[in-house]
Amino acid sequence: MHLYRAKFVLPIAAPSIEDGVVAVERGRIAAVGPRADFSGPFTDLGECALLPGFINAHCHLDYTDMAGEVPMRGSFTDWLGDITARKRGWSAAQFAVSACNGLIAASRSGTTTVCDIASTPVNLGLMAGSPMRVLSCLELIDVAGQPVEESPWGCCAGLSPHAPFTASAALYQQAHAYCRKRSRIFTTHLAESLDEQAMFEESRGWLYERLAALGRPMNDCGHGSSAALLDRLGVLHGALVAHANCLNDDDMAMLARAKATVVHCPSSHRFFGHPAFPLERLRAAGVPVCLGTDSAASGPRAVELDMRAEMRQFLAVFRAMRPSEALAMATAVAAKALKQAGVTGTLAAGARADMIAVRLGGEERDAALGVVESRGAVLLSMVNGKVVHDER
Ligand SMILES: [Zn+2]
Repeated sequence: MHLYRAKFVLPIAAPSIEDGVVAVERGRIAAVGPRADFSGPFTDLGECALLPGFINAHCHLDYTDMAGEVPMRGSFTDWLGDITARKRGWSAAQFAVSACNGLIAASRSGTTTVCDIASTPVNLGLMAGSPMRVLSCLELIDVAGQPVEESPWGCCAGLSPHAPFTASAALYQQAHAYCRKRSRIFTTHLAESLDEQAMFEESRGWLYERLAALGRPMNDCGHGSSAALLDRLGVLHGALVAHANCLNDDDMAMLARAKATVVHCPSSHRFFGHPAFPLERLRAAGVPVCLGTDSAASGPRAVELDMRAEMRQFLAVFRAMRPSEALAMATAVAAKALKQAGVTGTLAAGARADMIAVRLGGEERDAALGVVESRGAVLLSMVNGKVVHDER
C-alpha cells in the first residue's frame, strides 16, 4: 500500500478533503480520506491538489502535428477539405509520430484518459501499448457508400462514423449494432456547423454542394435535422455526440431519450466560430455534457491538448458554471459516457489509480479553481498506479 498526501484531495464524486490522503494498492485506489484516518509513511505531495486525471472525451491524436497548419480561411466546409487534402500527403510514420506527440502533450497537462478518434487503423496497436488509457475509436467514412473494412474493429474501444454527411445510414447502423452488442463506445460528430444544418434541413449550402459533387446520395437531405436523421436510424442510443452546436428542442429531447452524452470542445468551437453552444438547454433537457479538446489542428497555433485550457475557455463563456462543475465534466461525467464509471474519473475505493497532482498557487482556498488556473506540466500523473509523468 502506498499513501499519497496532498493539501487538498478532490475525489470529484465526493466533497473535497483538506489535508487528505489517497491509498493505492496494486494499481487501484484502496481508500480516500483525511490524513488523520491513516498512519504513515506518506509520500507528501505538499501544496497540491490530488484529483482524478483528466478525461479528454474527444480528440484526434494523429492530427497533433498539424497544429496551426490548417487555418480557417472561410467556411467550416473549406477547412474540412483542407485537412482532408493535408492527410493525403502524410505517411503512416507521420501519423504515428503525431499521435505520440499528442499523447506526450496530453500527459504533461494532466490527462490520463483520451477518447481518440483514429483516422486510420495504423496507430491502433501503438495506442494500445501506451501507458495512458487511450480509448481508440476508429473513424469510419463512406461518402459515396463505398464498402468499409470491418476487420480492424475488433481491437478498438469503440467506433466513430465520422458525421451524418460522410457516413452512410447503413454504416451508422452496422457500427452502432456492433458497438451495442459488445458494449463498446459509439461516437460521432453531429450538428457541428451551420453548413451541416443547411445541408440536412434545407438541401443547400457549401457542404451540400461539395458532397453532391463527390457522388454522395443526397436523398436524406430536406427531411429535418441531422440529429433527427440519426434518431430515425436508431443510432443515438448511448451515443457520445461531439459538438451538437446546432440543435432544436426536439433534437435535445431525442438525445435525452436516447441517453446520449454530448462532448463540447470549447477551443475548437471558438476557432470555427460556430453558433453558441446550447449548454443551458441541453442541461435542462437532461443531456449530460463533458469536455474534449478536439484535434490540435482545430486551433490557431501550437495546441496544448490541455484540458485545463478547455475548462478555462468553457468557464469564460459560461460564467454561471463553477470550476468544480467544469472539473466534473472533465472527469466523472466523461468516464460514464466512455463506459469507464467505477474505473476512472473519480477517486474512490476500487477505482483504478488514475490520478494527478497539481501545484496550487499560494493562498488557494478554492482548490478546483486552482487546478483550472494552473499552467504547464502537472507535478505528477499516474495511470493504474504507475507514474507516467513526474516533475518532482
Ligand atoms: Zn472531432
